[in-house]
Amino acid sequence: MADLVLDNVTKEFQDDSGTIVAVDDANIDIDDGEFLVLVGPSGCGKSTTLRMIAGLETITRGDIRLGGGSLAGKPPKDRNIAMVFQSYALYPHMTVRQNMSFGLEESTDMADERIRTIVEDTAAMLGIESLLDRKPAELSGGQQQRVALGRAIVRDPEVFLMDEPLSNLDAKLRAEMRTELQRLQEDLDTTTVYVTHDQTEAMTMGDRIAILDGGELQQVATPLEAYHRPANRFVAGFIGEPSMNFFEMEVQGDRLVHAPAGGEGKFAYPLSSAVREKVGESDRIELGIRPEDIELVEDAAGDHDFETVVDVVEPMGNENNVYLTFSADDDETFVATVGGLRQVEGGQPVVARIPESAIHVFDADTGAGLH
Ligand code: ATP
Repeated sequence: MADLVLDNVTKEFQDDSGTIVAVDDANIDIDDGEFLVLVGPSGCGKSTTLRMIAGLETITRGDIRLGGGSLAGKPPKDRNIAMVFQSYALYPHMTVRQNMSFGLEESTDMADERIRTIVEDTAAMLGIESLLDRKPAELSGGQQQRVALGRAIVRDPEVFLMDEPLSNLDAKLRAEMRTELQRLQEDLDTTTVYVTHDQTEAMTMGDRIAILDGGELQQVATPLEAYHRPANRFVAGFIGEPSMNFFEMEVQGDRLVHAPAGGEGKFAYPLSSAVREKVGESDRIELGIRPEDIELVEDAAGDHDFETVVDVVEPMGNENNVYLTFSADDDETFVATVGGLRQVEGGQPVVARIPESAIHVFDADTGAGLH
């Protein structure tokens, strides 16, 4: 069983200004065969986590176990783990065949004929069998990417570690490779940890995603759980495109009132018992609403509807991202995603509706999701 466990893993670096906590007490249990995506903004500790699993970086505190056994003290070559890098790291002077067979020749006593078969089968699986005699410089970025994957696959490791492997590809190829990589991982059923800063990649590829910020794990969940029940404001804002809108609100009696710090509230609505339950004892909360959950309606029909002015419309083809302000002289915008048939233009007044059933509620002080 190749389940991979990060047990209270901390990594500190020392530099002139003191201690940098790159990864702070991370706990993740990754199941055998699972595709786990580590996602977060630049500098949040993704690569450091991956490098600790690979054995390229020591662990300051905690332990990493593979199949129940600690990896502590095991050099990278003795871990049955293959890493795929963003830069592909192919040997330029070797052909594709040599790049793919090199690791097996060096680290096993497998017969040449057997290695040849494995390399050719893997190349066929990746659709690069006709490229085996070429050098990396004679390949496109997408083809080099496949060779890098092939080199990891031939080793038949217990774990794949992938560090932003698609980020050097153009958008179309990246989307194609996302699906292909997923299919491949499903077929091979190899435990995979995949690092990206791209939330779309995380949402579409991961069985589960682990969201990191500032070295701290924010949530480990399925993509849908993270989307529908974000653990906190950070996750809520990070997952989803365009990002969730947030409004500062105050509970005033039986009403929920928009109350931005230092500004004038623009809307309010009755506090239902369901929302009251979520809010609990807090007086101040942050209300989160996803752009796709805001509706633009003809006329205000209730307390959840309020006047806004269209700032900018971003056409996306089948839908539009409509950036709205509370008034024409306001520069703070929020965004609604509406169907492409709905035509609105800059400067136009529209009525926005925030359906209560779609709101997310966060503690204003801690940012914790109140569910
Ligand atoms: P990116 O997406 O930009 O690659 P990341 O999430 O992979 O970022 P890491 O590379 O893991 O982030 O870095 C986490 C933190 O640790 C950062 O603050 C970084 O500056 C710091 N760090 C990483 N390696 C070292 C090092 N060798 N010495 C000192 N600090 C380091």
